[in-house]
Amino acid sequence: MLPANERLVTCPHCGQKKALLELASGNTIDAIHYSDARTVAPMMPRVLPVQRCPECGKYYLTWNQPYEEGEDYSFERGELFFAEMNEAYEQLKDQLTNDQERHNFHIYVLWAFNDTFFRPTEDESDDVEKPAPTEADYAALQPHIEALLEMHKDENSGQMPLLRAEWHREIGQFEQCIALLENFTVANESKEDIEGVDNGFLKHVASQILEHARAKDPKVFAIVPPERSGC
Ligand SMILES: [Zn+2]
Repeated sequence: MLPANERLVTCPHCGQKKALLELASGNTIDAIHYSDARTVAPMMPRVLPVQRCPECGKYYLTWNQPYEEGEDYSFERGELFFAEMNEAYEQLKDQLTNDQERHNFHIYVLWAFNDTFFRPTEDESDDVEKPAPTEADYAALQPHIEALLEMHKDENSGQMPLLRAEWHREIGQFEQCIALLENFTVANESKEDIEGVDNGFLKHVASQILEHARAKDPKVFAIVPPERSGC
């Protein structure tokens, strides 16, 4: 990973500039793909599009803010814990102007939930102790998942059924998860690929989600790559 000059983003509330990591180059070596569709790549760290101002403590969306190039390097990515991301959502939800932005924000909340309670993120090792989510945490996550499911309820093509199944699983709706996965497998039985993605791989992902759902396990997990044959 090679940093470029920092990005100085201006807070819309107080005008304070926050220095964020800007990448000159990175790569996906050692990237891990998770069942909630987040990829964690140590050599290509993510800078969160939702930032908290260090001066006034309020949140803003970086894509709406002016920025300039600074003179130094910054490694700040502005990661937020689940509770902070929920606070950010409450503060910013009225500024989300279309379904794509709303979809993305619900995904950020879900990923923050999984980062906070289960997943080692870019600069953490596997043995970092994570707090367990409480019932109140699950209750706070639920409306975001329900919003995603509602937004995409009629989308039965491509990989969407897999994502919807995973969202059901992550809030403990295992029966809905299993039904979607079984339909997905039957519907795509004879296809070689689905919208450009190898169907063998998707079936492999579906079978892993299914295994976790049958064990009544709602936790996000790292996708184990399919074993390569013929080597
Ligand atoms: Zn501020």
